[in-house]
Amino acid sequence: MDQQVRPSTIDGADRNARPNSAVRFTGVSRHFGDVRAVDAVDLDIEEGEFFAMLGPSGSGKTTCLRLIAGFERPTAGEVEIFGHPVEDLPPYRRAVNTVFQDYALFPHMNVLDNVAYSLMVQGVDKTKRHHEAEKALELVRLPDFGARRPGALSGGQRQRVALARALVGKPKVLLLDEPLGALDLKLREEMQEELISLQRQLGLTFVFVTHDQGEAMSMADRIAVFNEGRIVQVGAPEAVYRRPATPFVAGFVGSSNVLPPNIVQNLIGKHAWASLRPEAIRFVDQDGRPAEVLSVNFLGDKLRIALKLGQQRVTATQPSSGPTPTVGQTVYIGWDNDDLHLMDAAP
Ligand code: ATP
Repeated sequence: MDQQVRPSTIDGADRNARPNSAVRFTGVSRHFGDVRAVDAVDLDIEEGEFFAMLGPSGSGKTTCLRLIAGFERPTAGEVEIFGHPVEDLPPYRRAVNTVFQDYALFPHMNVLDNVAYSLMVQGVDKTKRHHEAEKALELVRLPDFGARRPGALSGGQRQRVALARALVGKPKVLLLDEPLGALDLKLREEMQEELISLQRQLGLTFVFVTHDQGEAMSMADRIAVFNEGRIVQVGAPEAVYRRPATPFVAGFVGSSNVLPPNIVQNLIGKHAWASLRPEAIRFVDQDGRPAEVLSVNFLGDKLRIALKLGQQRVTATQPSSGPTPTVGQTVYIGWDNDDLHLMDAAP
């Protein structure tokens, strides 16, 4: 690694500071033996954005978060926070804090002392640190819970305490590692809304790790899609959904019909991979392409219909309020040209 002396404070003025970039990775790798957990990643997270790291298990998201937090050091490359290289900064000197999936609360301490813990370690006196902890508990809408032990809280309340504890030190970047993973669906949706409004209210940069594409799309300003230690695509949720860069992204972010080059060649005369979202397929009159109905599943508001288009199996969705095709029937389908999105071959 580059060992030259660098400015080691995030507070001091630095002519090279790039104020709009909260976190920057330049060629960052973190290898564990043969495992390339993070592999040559370039990344820019803007100040004040809600940024999601999305990818399957083992794709390197948590390792990236730990590199920002300072719990890991890069094998190669450079991490900057607000324009300053942080190689020499230990976690507690970085303007970031982390909310862990398991919350990591101290069971023997009450909620107020849990939230005030980092201030205690910094030597802040008891009156002041309890005052700050009470303010943080108000932010997460748990103002009267300070005297309770974590064991006497629900999962959702523990999650809020963990959030308050991470916010009490006034970080500029909040790192959230699958923070809603342990909550049931309804609570999860409530907390998603609360996290978004908290982030807007505080104007902080949030870096949110999840393997749930719906969660990433509904919460984030931008999403980085990870696969095998690399970032395959970065963009706004709608852009990533509508214009996936590769077959991997098309299949991972929402469901899609990923069509191989030989099929696309037959359809439009171009030899390339393509993505066709199920909802883009329309049932039309006989001017469309004939397809055989293989199966029909009722999903409540919509129907999922598997079709055989030539030799290719494709899935379409239709509102369940419309007619229901029958298995074995020949139907005619079409789509807008723009909806057949061509992609790079790389995964
Ligand atoms: P998950 O969603 O399951 O948490 P992830 O995308 O966050 O996965 P990482 O936890 O970053 O993935 O792990 C990436 C790869 O690096 C995995 O193959 C993992 O086993 C490996 N890895 C992570 N930390 C270590 C370590 N300390 N020692 C060895 N291998 C590690």
